Amino acid sequence: MTAEVIVDIAHSEVDRIFEYRAGGGVEEGCRVRVPFGGRTVDGYVMRLKEGSDFDPAKLKSVSSVIDRPLTRECLSLVHTVSARYRCAKALTLRLFLPAEMRRGTVRELQRNVAVYEKEVELSSRAKSQAAALAWLRGRGRAPYTEYRDKFGDGAVRALIERGAVRLEKERVGRKPLKDLAASAAVHELTPAQAAALERIAASPRRVQLLHGVTGSGKTEIYLTLIARALAEGRSALFLVPEISLTPQMFSQLRARFGDRVAILHSGLSAGERFDEWQRLRSGEATIAVGARSAVFAPVENIGVIVLDEEHDGSYQSENNPRYNAREIAEMRAAYNGCKLVLGSATPSVETYLKASEGEYELIELPERINRRPLPEMRIADMRREVRRGNDSAFSSALRDELEACLAAGNQAILFLNRRGYAQSVVCRDCGAVLKCEQCDVSLTYHSEEGCLKCHYCGSNYKMPRACPECGGVHLSYTGTGTQKVVGELKKLYPSARILRMDVDTTSGKEGHYKILKRFADREADILVGTQMIAKGHDFPSVTLVGILDADMSLHFSDYRSGERTFQLITQVAGRSGRAGEQGRVVVQTYDPGNYILRFAAAYDYKGFFRHEIALRRSTAFPPFARIVRVMVTAEQDKAALEALKEVYFSLKEVYDAHAGDFLFFNKMHAPVRRIQNRCRYQVLMRLTDDALLPEIYDRALAYKSRDALVYVEENPSNLS
Ligand code: ADP
Ligand code: ZN
Repeated sequence: MTAEVIVDIAHSEVDRIFEYRAGGGVEEGCRVRVPFGGRTVDGYVMRLKEGSDFDPAKLKSVSSVIDRPLTRECLSLVHTVSARYRCAKALTLRLFLPAEMRRGTVRELQRNVAVYEKEVELSSRAKSQAAALAWLRGRGRAPYTEYRDKFGDGAVRALIERGAVRLEKERVGRKPLKDLAASAAVHELTPAQAAALERIAASPRRVQLLHGVTGSGKTEIYLTLIARALAEGRSALFLVPEISLTPQMFSQLRARFGDRVAILHSGLSAGERFDEWQRLRSGEATIAVGARSAVFAPVENIGVIVLDEEHDGSYQSENNPRYNAREIAEMRAAYNGCKLVLGSATPSVETYLKASEGEYELIELPERINRRPLPEMRIADMRREVRRGNDSAFSSALRDELEACLAAGNQAILFLNRRGYAQSVVCRDCGAVLKCEQCDVSLTYHSEEGCLKCHYCGSNYKMPRACPECGGVHLSYTGTGTQKVVGELKKLYPSARILRMDVDTTSGKEGHYKILKRFADREADILVGTQMIAKGHDFPSVTLVGILDADMSLHFSDYRSGERTFQLITQVAGRSGRAGEQGRVVVQTYDPGNYILRFAAAYDYKGFFRHEIALRRSTAFPPFARIVRVMVTAEQDKAALEALKEVYFSLKEVYDAHAGDFLFFNKMHAPVRRIQNRCRYQVLMRLTDDALLPEIYDRALAYKSRDALVYVEENPSNLS
């Protein structure tokens, strides 16, 4: 037989099939060792066939088989994914495998177990041997170390020598989030939930959009769908924006499905991730849960794919290959002949358009469970507060609500999407802003650590006493961050217990989970946090949500900023009043007339959508056109500029030949000109014909070099 092999080298020159002679034991999907250019490298068997296109005498042989990590589906998907994102197959393959497996840095964790074999004749003096054998007979097997410690090394060894006891290796699973409290409540479905499930089951469409307001019980629908897939002997794939932020979801899954759930996410240790992946690959676990990268989980025969919070930007990868998990999920649903259920309280405009045009099935849950009212939203005009001389982070409306909330013994969540103490430090003498040495961005002051941090590259700097430009000593802080908010709160409410949740307080293993658990256990009254508190949490005692600066994301010059603001306000507000009591929300803004805020405060998704989609249509922005950005970065400005020119002139040929399909085409500095000491330029395009994408990718990527990095982004969510 001949094996078609892709070698695990990420070079465009070797991005093709190599043929090897294959003996017994070589199967499709195997990871093998093969001779390649004078050394031996890892490769993957994509296909086996009779004969070869090459001279069989010259064909080299597969050296050895390591294992068989790739499923049939993976072997097929690799080609589709590589073609879609124009990337080397070897690179695409890596998405399907845990990194620690490729690097060989983690192995299965094994332990020895003692297994009862048979009765043997023992002398009457060998009392401990007799006791040890009797004990093991009763149990069948026991961990070797425990057994030895109990009965002594000599006795156990003697039993093994005589064949009464046998040693065996057993795989030990490293299990993530072991001590997570299981919440097992299975709810009887409400009529609305049951009807939604019926609609999904009866729909002829591949993709279902479940548009349900916050607290409408979407989770219960997901769990039922998964249970049904399992009952049919199939498996399930469940994607969430970021699992470390949603331990509650995981505890529900664990409670309902036990060890059939495997969890994949970046917060796990390498060993845990490897073991969870193995459990899925072997079929021991049949439900894969995780964030973006879990879309490549090795589950076979999938019965349903659920993608929760489908609007979330984290489904788009920002590393090479820049895949979109929603797209991959659609490919996998098509391959497995199963449904893909997209869930959200605030669907992306793009998805909702497809649903309203009938390409996706649209299923709506317009009410919260048990008709609980949605929280009441008040808009606080911060301009008026400033006029009244209130320069704190809190409007008087929010202060009143906070007092009432604390007095009633309830909990509050305050949202501010800016960590640190002050966003930037400005010299009042010369106007200079303190900037990172490696990036063209201002530094954020962190009061707790007493330092300045760059939020782009993570560099830390000592807080200077004087301005590095003019020597002036009048440095002032602008732009409030979470640390400053906590400081102000402590002064206002000295007896309130406050927790802060942002990147700085959640580092370390299960860092998010620890803070969320403390808040859920009511160890604090107020939780202050960045957007990581917006997602999916269900805290019954939270009756107040404060959004401190609703305008922040409106000011980004990004076509999606209105959409993002609407989503964020709705999501954060949705954390309030989820159990018995009426929830309240205060939205602070300097722009109270803004239509986005008004639609959000009225929970009018459809009104927002109609307005937004009309705007996108008239201005020809996505989903009516595609924005493509080709980024060119290099350490030397000259190298970056040269590569940019080459990319630009090559792409210009496409533009000239199809000018009618382009709404915009130009080269320029990226908005942030330097990050991590790399100069950044871009060719920005807006086009109406997707058929041009492959050519744009191929031409742009042809100018990648040792000096210059070139990559392509489609509808990027971050245009910095
Ligand atoms: P969503 O994901 O739509 O925001 P959840 O699934 O978190 O909403 O459900 C909101 C709350 O309603 C949760 O506390 C959940 O336990 C509860 N819930 C869900 N379904 C039911 C039901 N059928 N009966 C009673 N309570 C339910
Ligand atoms: Zn920096």
